[in-house]
Amino acid sequence: MTAQIIDGKAFAADVRAKVATQVARLKEEHGITPGLAVVLVGEDPASQVYVRSKGKQTVEVGMNSYEHRLDADTSEADLLALIDQLNTDPAVHGILVQLPLPGHLNEDLVINAIDPAKDVDGFHISNVGLLGTGQKSMVPCTPLSCLMMLRAHHGSLSGLDAVVIGRSNIVGKPMAQLLLGDSCTVTIAHSRTKNLPDVVRRADIVVAAVGRPEMVPGDWIKEGATVIDVGINRIEKPEGGTRLVGDVDFASASLRAGAITPVPGGVGPMTIACLLANTLTACCRANGLAEPE
Ligand code: NDP
Repeated sequence: MTAQIIDGKAFAADVRAKVATQVARLKEEHGITPGLAVVLVGEDPASQVYVRSKGKQTVEVGMNSYEHRLDADTSEADLLALIDQLNTDPAVHGILVQLPLPGHLNEDLVINAIDPAKDVDGFHISNVGLLGTGQKSMVPCTPLSCLMMLRAHHGSLSGLDAVVIGRSNIVGKPMAQLLLGDSCTVTIAHSRTKNLPDVVRRADIVVAAVGRPEMVPGDWIKEGATVIDVGINRIEKPEGGTRLVGDVDFASASLRAGAITPVPGGVGPMTIACLLANTLTACCRANGLAEPE
């Protein structure tokens, strides 16, 4: 069997198109333009690429993009003052502080200073609590992307066995909460999990969010399972240069899985699309308007 490829680029294009339509309607019917503020501290090259891409896509769907680039040695007080200003700015509906922050800044403190209603990354402790208790929240973009693709592929996820490999606050844990919310039977695996291959072999859904190149081989995958590969790892090519691979060995896994996301072109493109969708949602909530579907 060869797996169906879940095309994250196509999904992302679809999400962006829907967001753009709704943004146009908001402008026309209510004179409101959603605004996303992105704060980048320092010059981490990968973060610069992400921030540029977020800004470009924000403008492409018709939203306002506000970029705040701060020096690497910016003090916590100055960063918190900027967040305070963005929290009260009515033109800003979403605030994203690009992580990781330089070591002298306390990430938890900074993230929890964002108004939860504008926390489009869904990392604020209030949003984490709301998600964990099944209440309306801002849902972190990467797990939300995975859930959207799983729902589109399966329809109902109810009763399916799901394994999430990785327990980070930004991917693994919220992913597990979302799957639980959709009535999966969820196992969260991590570096101390015993018999990981057997745990993965039981799963109808495998979400790999580890950060270890191709660590999940095809023979761990149950025949017909759906595999969502969140990992983004850059490895050396034997002939020189580098390439991106996921946490799953795509070649062997795609011979057993029913469906699988590629890397690149799977979860990655969807993440920014979901950020835009979250910004639209935040804007609608802030203005007391019906939320987009
Ligand atoms: P973290 O490093 O925060 O978490 C990795 C998790 O993997 C930890 O829970 C760790 O366990 C677990 N782990 C490490 N080694 C093993 C192992 N041998 N067996 C089982 N579990 C293991 O990573 P993130 O969650 O931030 O990111 C994971 C991957 O997803 C990365 O490749 C990252 O680049 C990618 N990513 C992609 C995004 C996208 O848009 N597509 C967005 C965010 C991340 P323990 O807790 O025990 O240490």
